[in-house]
Amino acid sequence: MTDYAVAPLQPTCLPIVGSATLFPVRRVFCVGRNYGLHVKEMGGDPKDQLPLFFTKPADAVVGPGGAVPYPSATRDLHHEIELVAALKSGGVDLSPEAAMASIFGYATGVDLTRRDLQAAAKQSGQPWDSSKAFDASAPVSAIRPADQVKELTGAIRLKVNGDVRQDGKLSDMIWSVAEVIAQASKLWRLEPGDLIFTGTPDGVGPLNRGDHVLGEIDGVGEVAFTVS
Ligand code: MN
Repeated sequence: MTDYAVAPLQPTCLPIVGSATLFPVRRVFCVGRNYGLHVKEMGGDPKDQLPLFFTKPADAVVGPGGAVPYPSATRDLHHEIELVAALKSGGVDLSPEAAMASIFGYATGVDLTRRDLQAAAKQSGQPWDSSKAFDASAPVSAIRPADQVKELTGAIRLKVNGDVRQDGKLSDMIWSVAEVIAQASKLWRLEPGDLIFTGTPDGVGPLNRGDHVLGEIDGVGEVAFTVS
């Protein structure tokens, strides 16, 4: 038995639809600016795009039923609903075909963002960690195995207290899931357990304490939580 100076991290795990097996999360990669209307609402030009990546720690992931407290140090917490790909294999310099073959399944996730801190970071050229990679910043649904997901073209939608705030289509992604993973594999050796958040459609906006959030992606699943 190895003696550790502090308790070693246990993996954050997500349930899998139709299985008692758990999916252990290794890393979380996120792509920004992947739907044209969202790029425009953030003041960018959708035609001038390469995928922009940032990361969140694995233990920022909150599975179904987990607590999502309003984070410290912000007055402008935003929701971003996103399709999440969960990898069963990895590698470097993957082709889009190899990237598709690396996918274990899909989930519905929310990339929670301290928008005020992100705006300040953008303005001063500082990193995004405090605006994106905070505790409980990644609520995620159960993972649906890829062989149960028919096509990635349907509705991606987020409601707050029953009001529709984001209502897009997966087919509006600038970079496909396969292209996003292929690009990520040029920057990191992807590994089993990695999650890839694939960007959000337009309609991002603020959340307050007590808000109930329901995110839905047709054919994939639902993520639901209340900001406490
Ligand atoms: Mn995002």
